[in-house]
Amino acid sequence: YGDPSQKIDYVFKVVLIGDSAVGKSQILARFSRNEFSLDSKATIGVEFQTRTLVIEHKSVKAQIWDTAGQERYRAVTSAYYRGAVGAMLVYDITKRQSFDHIPRWLEELRSHADKNIVIILIGNKCDLENQREVPTEDAKEFAQKEGLFFLETSALEATNVETAFMTVLTEIFNIVN
Ligand code: GDP
Ligand code: MG
Repeated sequence: YGDPSQKIDYVFKVVLIGDSAVGKSQILARFSRNEFSLDSKATIGVEFQTRTLVIEHKSVKAQIWDTAGQERYRAVTSAYYRGAVGAMLVYDITKRQSFDHIPRWLEELRSHADKNIVIILIGNKCDLENQREVPTEDAKEFAQKEGLFFLETSALEATNVETAFMTVLTEIFNIVN
């Protein structure tokens, strides 16, 4: 997961947002450390994690910010969004309410973040297909209408987590190059 001595060509700040318990911290744990925990309270206090990867022969340090629980009180501050060039808007496919709140999160994001921010909508916990409450088509349609990328992921099974980050980071990379 990256040689610390290598030179860094770019640092991209990406923020994770969405309702509490949708799996934001576990998506980050999967991406940054290839870990997953069913009891994920251990991440409290951690502001961001980094992972350095290579895109078109350049080293890109992804600095991924996690909310440390503030989303419960809708107290995610403008400092959280400051300087962000990417955002992952996460809902839980087994919790309709978390998807119904997505427009609010998007509005908050658009009012606080840079207008050129790259956004991906993520339907997490796709391993729980038998508990699904949000049809893939609904999310796909919403994403298309709002001009967002969209993927369903499972932090538990590591499905599409890498692809989701690579989608955002590659798009940012293409914008700055
Ligand atoms: P956050 O509040 O959005 O940061 O959510 P967490 O990452 O803390 O996850 C909330 C709960 O959902 C924890 O019990 C996780 O283990 C669980 N969880 C997270 N991602 C997945 C997933 O992809 N599949 C399943 N089945 N559970 C998950
Ligand atoms: Mg969390």
